[in-house]
Amino acid sequence: MTSKELTEDTVKYKENNYLLEVQNLKTYYPIHGGFFRRVVGNVKAVDDISFAIKKGETMGLVGESGCGKSTTGRTILRLMKPTGGKIIFDGEDITNLSGLKLQEARRDFQMIFQDPYASLNPMQMVGNIVAEPILNYEKRDKKELKAYVKSLLLKVGLPEEAYYKYAHEFSGGQRQRIGIARTLALNPKLIVADEPVSALDVSVQSQVLNLLKSLQKEFELTYLFIAHDLSVVKHMSDRIGVMYLGNLVEVASNKDLYKEPLHPYTQALISAIPEPNPSLRKERIVLKGDVPSPANPPTGCPFHTRCPVAQEICSQEKPPLREVKPGHYVACVLY
Ligand code: SF4
Repeated sequence: MTSKELTEDTVKYKENNYLLEVQNLKTYYPIHGGFFRRVVGNVKAVDDISFAIKKGETMGLVGESGCGKSTTGRTILRLMKPTGGKIIFDGEDITNLSGLKLQEARRDFQMIFQDPYASLNPMQMVGNIVAEPILNYEKRDKKELKAYVKSLLLKVGLPEEAYYKYAHEFSGGQRQRIGIARTLALNPKLIVADEPVSALDVSVQSQVLNLLKSLQKEFELTYLFIAHDLSVVKHMSDRIGVMYLGNLVEVASNKDLYKEPLHPYTQALISAIPEPNPSLRKERIVLKGDVPSPANPPTGCPFHTRCPVAQEICSQEKPPLREVKPGHYVACVLY
């Protein structure tokens, strides 16, 4: 996006009640080498992306493994410091917050992790696991806190007795419910859900997704929903951003993205979704080659080494993300 487009968008975001604005966000991991371990390069995990999420909306972020979507989520939550750009949350610039100010801001944004078991302390009772985030911030009457935690367990579809058990006594889906209860404990405004169902059996995935949807209505939550599975993202999201090699290559409403994908990479991803109705089956676009290394990304369009319709100019100029139809953005010279 050019700065003019960004300024216009920023005005639009405010008018439209946006909760989160990400402006030209970059997250690079330094590569050290040589005798003095000097910085000799960078892995450009997130390379200049801009988007915004409206209050109460679910924005999906999709792309192949290693495209930078999880790093984007973690940077937004300030679990890592951005290399450049701005993160504006609920009108406040949180890009450079640190110490107590960052800790205080974090009450309002939480994360649901991919592996629920790894994120739950096996030595603690579930009741204590769910109560822990609250006790990090405030003192609460023990009886009142216990009642609150039990009410959260009920909200995520677990019995009150779960309070007294340990994480290993539950199935994968139930553990993810415990993780969700813990995430809700501080009554956050934004939840970044990073592949929240990819470690679960297919049979319980839709139950957890439907739970997230019903909790969104009840708690007026805003989600950044990260997944590699396009069917899951379609089920959950109002708008979707497609990432490739640290870049956002297309952003559109759920309906527009699946009905009329514009970017050749999005078209290839969507063509790979299995179609249950044989009469509607489309031809699958198979991409050649591997995703280039983010430590040495190609010049020009980051997708040009694999794009089936690449042109000469594509290796020279990086196309900006432009709005080509109302609310439909694409980064490709074809538009
Ligand atoms: Fe393909 Fe060129 Fe468009 Fe990139 S800019 S997606 S290489 S056509």
